[in-house]
Amino acid sequence: MALRLRRLGYDVSVIDNNPMAGGRAQVYRAGDFKFDAGPTVITAPFLFDELFGLFGKKRSDYIEFLPVEPWYRFEFEDGSKLDYGGKLEDTVAEINRLSPGEGLGYQKLVGFSKKIFAVGFEKLADQPFHRFQTMIKQVPALLALKSYLSVYSLVGSFLKDERLRRAFSIHPLLVGGNPLNTTSIYCLIHYLERKWGVWFPRGGTGALVEALVKLINEVGIKLELNQQVSKVIVEGKKACGIRLKSGEEKLANLVVFDADPPKVYRDLIDSEHRSKWSNARLERISFSMGLFVWYFGTSRSYPDVQHHTIIMGKAFKELLEDIYDRKILSDDLSLYLHRPAATDQSMAPKGGDAFYVLAPVPNKLAKINWEESGEKIRNQVQAQLEKSLLPGLGDCLAYSHFVTPDDFEGKFNTLWGSGFSIAPLFRQSAWFRFHNRSEDLENLYFCGAGTHPGAGVPGVISSAKVVEKLVPPSRIENESAFKDIFRSKSRTFSIASLLLPKDRAEAISRLYYVCRTLDDWADEGEGAKLKDAMNCWENHQPHELLDHYRLLQARWGLDSFPLTELMEAMIGELEGVRIQTDAELIKYCHGVAGTIGLMTCPIFGVTDPAALQYADDLGIAMQLTNICRDIREDAQRDRIYLPAESFDHWPTASDLLSANPASMAEINQAKLRLLAIADQRYASGEVGIRYLPLRMRIVVRWAGRMYREIGELIKEDPSLHHSKRAVVSNRKKTRILLPCLFRAFVP
Ligand SMILES: Cc1cc2nc3c(=O)[nH]c(=O)nc-3n(C[C@H](O)[C@H](O)[C@H](O)COP(=O)(O)OP(=O)(O)OC[C@H]3O[C@@H](n4cnc5c(N)ncnc54)[C@H](O)[C@@H]3O)c2cc1C
Repeated sequence: MALRLRRLGYDVSVIDNNPMAGGRAQVYRAGDFKFDAGPTVITAPFLFDELFGLFGKKRSDYIEFLPVEPWYRFEFEDGSKLDYGGKLEDTVAEINRLSPGEGLGYQKLVGFSKKIFAVGFEKLADQPFHRFQTMIKQVPALLALKSYLSVYSLVGSFLKDERLRRAFSIHPLLVGGNPLNTTSIYCLIHYLERKWGVWFPRGGTGALVEALVKLINEVGIKLELNQQVSKVIVEGKKACGIRLKSGEEKLANLVVFDADPPKVYRDLIDSEHRSKWSNARLERISFSMGLFVWYFGTSRSYPDVQHHTIIMGKAFKELLEDIYDRKILSDDLSLYLHRPAATDQSMAPKGGDAFYVLAPVPNKLAKINWEESGEKIRNQVQAQLEKSLLPGLGDCLAYSHFVTPDDFEGKFNTLWGSGFSIAPLFRQSAWFRFHNRSEDLENLYFCGAGTHPGAGVPGVISSAKVVEKLVPPSRIENESAFKDIFRSKSRTFSIASLLLPKDRAEAISRLYYVCRTLDDWADEGEGAKLKDAMNCWENHQPHELLDHYRLLQARWGLDSFPLTELMEAMIGELEGVRIQTDAELIKYCHGVAGTIGLMTCPIFGVTDPAALQYADDLGIAMQLTNICRDIREDAQRDRIYLPAESFDHWPTASDLLSANPASMAEINQAKLRLLAIADQRYASGEVGIRYLPLRMRIVVRWAGRMYREIGELIKEDPSLHHSKRAVVSNRKKTRILLPCLFRAFVP
């Protein structure tokens, strides 16, 4: 989250109560042993590439991801095994070996989880869910995807063998849920693994945290460790800072927590400031399970043990009921065993091995005295491992340390010591989960496991993307300035934008402000400002103007390259322009205007990449029209855009300014030729309008038609409009609007 806020131009401080960064992804070290405390299965690695990419860095320059194979080995109580991972055919073959003929059911399960993934991950995981309408809109899709079923029921509809049903139902446990009642939407994790595989950072998850800390330091984020936040400072209805346990207060424009939201609301915000998240409401929440995790080192190696092994106990439903409903400790545990040296030898000391084993257990709502039960469970787990995968474990144990829900509560400040914050039930997902923007206080935001979309590394990173879309601009002082500029400098566009929904109109005016300011700098000889902007952009540094564009990128997904190309083209014309060929001219028009077409596409809701070429063409057409209209103004700035190749005698700037009669015939001919090229591009732009949502069609078609009308005026009398600017009358603009309104509904 800190990285995303920094990219938007905020000064960011990260405060954490632990002595090292990483939260649940801490590293425990003892002698030659090191243990990743929490996450070990890295999925959706592109999310990390994106984080480094925010600052123009390559993730691979900071940390290497190693493929894990198999992704998991399942060890069943009857002695059978299943290796899951690799290519689809590998898993199908494994399944057919274990339960002949069931490979087909598995393929169908993968097919169905792909559909869930397309909605649950690709469409919704990084979208804000603080509006109920957003939830309502998704209901038909969620019903079609059978989200009313539990993961176990959905898996059971594709697979018959009980071992397979259990194995392919474990995903909710990875994010704290009970497979028997977690909505089947979480089957998307299954496809997430299929799509991008399972990875392990070289040097462990701790090395990944170190890589992120390096990036954090490089981009100027302050990291303050060993600092416990004890209060949110509130003024009126606004969060305006935090108080530390030490008594120190830190004021801030925004407060963003990735701590456990129920704990933050209950313990850090006085109840008088909470109308939604009252204590009574917080008590009705269902929490994820607790975790017992035993970190141990051995003086010998166990090379036959895979990186990730799930050891299934005898019972499945009964164990889950013990954990989630009866809230008692079971004597028949299912375990996850982590042996990182299987992928990365450096994770174990020479000749030895390092493991952690995790058992899901009840959270602290259960009446379990962990001081007594911890060692008991550890012995139970050790005996279970000795009998199965790690014979002779007791004789070679070289290091041992375990954590229980008490530690999760004490160390990571989770309510009831839960391992993954609130449970991923349907009634606690999306809009029903803790909102990323607080309903109770302004300027208070949440990301992390307890918020939308949920726990697990991909979920937590995606939640930061959601917050990035919701936070206000980092420099609110120039917010009214950009709207004023839009209204005063482009009356026509600002009137057209009245036809847009409010948020899109705001985005368009922000984009206009960025592009117009850059253009003004280029026209007014402010080359230094333009070059400074380019420098900040290329070096990913905060910049007063460009941070507006970054905000648009966060909220609307604008690409970076159009702005780079726009500034390059503008810098290119600072020292005067002499265009030689049509191709050079089109490239220039793309740079200064086609790029703006590309920038507007995501704001207008265009999702099909095929539309981009049309948007580019429309921008190029408009710029060609501009060139034909502004020949004299451009000549005053020593810019000649009429390509040399279309002339026998290429006019000089003074010929263009004085409208030298000897040159006019050729100049007019060149203009008419450019306007003909523009017309072809307008026609292409018109074709692309079908990719726009209905309301946007009106705006874009109207803008295109008005520009084209300028071209028509010039064509009627090119000589007159050499010295007199071609302007479309208001009456004509209105007349053009009517067919645009009509045509919006006729494809
Ligand atoms: C044992 C284990 C194994 C896991 N395995 C995987 C896995 O293989 N793959 C996967 O994708 N996910 C896995 N997860 C889940 C994943 O690790 C978590 O969902 C994710 O790390 C949670 O990130 P977070 O930022 O929400 O919270 P955290 O990582 O807990 O970060 C929050 C930080 O805020 C601190 N904090 C809280 N309150 C305060 C306060 N008042 N003042 C100061 N600091 C405070 C906490 O101490 C913590 O350091 C695992 C989790 C555990 C526990």
